[in-house]
Amino acid sequence: MNTDLLERIPGVGEHRFDAEGVAVVAPAGVDELATFVRWARAERIPLWPRSSTSLRRSVRPDGPGLVVDMSGLKEIIRVDRRNRVTLVQAGVTFEELAPALEREGLRAVMPLCPRRGKSVLATHIEREATIMPAFQWDLSDPLLCLELVYGSGDQFRTGSAAGPGNLDQQWASGEMQKGPMGPGHADWMRIVQGAQGTIGIATWASVKAEVLPRIETVHVGASDTLTPLVECAYRLLRKNAVDICFIVDANAFVDLVGTTEGSRAEAARRTQPWNLVMSVSGLDYLPERRHAVYSRMLRDEARAAGVRLVDPPLGSGETLLALLRRSSEEPYWKERRRGASRQVFFQTTLEAAGAFCASFAVHAAGAGIDTDRIGTYIQPQLGGRVAHVELIVACEPGTDEVAETGRFADAVAVPLTAEGAFFSRPYGAWAEPAFEAAASSVDILERAKTIFDPARILAPGRLGLKGNPDGYAF
Ligand SMILES: Cc1cc2nc3c(=O)[nH]c(=O)nc-3n(C[C@H](O)[C@H](O)[C@H](O)COP(=O)(O)OP(=O)(O)OC[C@H]3O[C@@H](n4cnc5c(N)ncnc54)[C@H](O)[C@@H]3O)c2cc1C
Repeated sequence: MNTDLLERIPGVGEHRFDAEGVAVVAPAGVDELATFVRWARAERIPLWPRSSTSLRRSVRPDGPGLVVDMSGLKEIIRVDRRNRVTLVQAGVTFEELAPALEREGLRAVMPLCPRRGKSVLATHIEREATIMPAFQWDLSDPLLCLELVYGSGDQFRTGSAAGPGNLDQQWASGEMQKGPMGPGHADWMRIVQGAQGTIGIATWASVKAEVLPRIETVHVGASDTLTPLVECAYRLLRKNAVDICFIVDANAFVDLVGTTEGSRAEAARRTQPWNLVMSVSGLDYLPERRHAVYSRMLRDEARAAGVRLVDPPLGSGETLLALLRRSSEEPYWKERRRGASRQVFFQTTLEAAGAFCASFAVHAAGAGIDTDRIGTYIQPQLGGRVAHVELIVACEPGTDEVAETGRFADAVAVPLTAEGAFFSRPYGAWAEPAFEAAASSVDILERAKTIFDPARILAPGRLGLKGNPDGYAF
């Protein structure tokens, strides 16, 4: 590491070394960040944006360079119930945002029990699947506008936040940063979303929030096979009757609800092979009536689809609802089975999910992975038009199982892509098969990279993008 360079970092005060021995800088705001990125551009220093913190996970960057740690930016800048929107700085986590929104009569749009320390902004910039498909109108939801610094060092605001005026002036004129498109005719936010930190570094985001129901009940539909649950989900999503809606197999359900050995054993005894978790709500207008109508619809459609309504495997409907509105307790639910896990996730349609799960089990068996190590989580998105399918493969930390599971998870994207799985978030080794299947996108992405990050300093190598032809100074 070139420590002389570190002594010359402008604008961001001291650098520090984290527990992994990685050099970290923590800009305090957008101006400081822009000065720093311009310097890194001139010096050709790779930057690795990070906004989450992690108690247990290693978050080493993929290569040499400086980590740009945005997790200290903790302000919830605005919560606006009338416009159902919140503006959060990069380091705000779900455990901070969810209660703040509830105080204002709103609920956060969340992934399924995110890990503690996970940044709201990073979650939505990465397009992690969220649990309320009825409120998702576009795959970019709930992310709206961003303030960011491109790899060029230029500051920018996307969507209706672009202006005119600063935030105070915009609020005074009734502009609440709810329009994700623009400025002009381009959709700038989408170039940054899903880019894995390769295009720009965001300081804040405006994010949709939903009305906190006056009444909400959770229901579990169970079945021995997946097909009836898919049918039930389609029927209810088509009628917009359910808010929370996702499917888990027995392993994933036990991991989600059980934190101790005793509670996991009890949940394992009671849980069904496949489970559709749904909630029905009453909002501001005629809440009891809305809740009653949709509850009846839920019962009718479940019966018609051949789904049994059962109790949650642990606790009550109320405790399950409380769990789904919060970040995961420790340990993180995807790591409860054996202490660690690798997740394989992709998009498909709901009715095709079962075939992919079966095929995944065959690939896993070929790699010596038993079904008791695999949890399945299927998340309808966009009102049921798309499904996020996630296979969670448990492994034991400190054993060869971790590397073996990693190799399997990297490699399995090749046959799954060939079978039609869409790796819409192609992390690490998944980029190769994903972009082979979408070859026409590569040139467009390379051109975008050249425009927004001309020295190619942001997260070099991710998404298979080329690095700086002259190399780096680190
Ligand atoms: C197989 C595999 C699976 C992965 N799965 C995931 C995954 O499910 N979710 C995920 O987020 N990453 C995933 N990654 C990428 C990478 O491992 C993680 O991003 C990294 O470990 C950091 O973890 P984090 O969640 O603490 O980072 P976070 O700080 O939460 O960052 C998550 C992502 O957002 C980007 N980012 C963070 N802050 C900003 C910001 N202010 N502006 C712009 N971009 C920003 C980061 O560069 C990173 O790509 C995966 C990688 C591999 C190889």
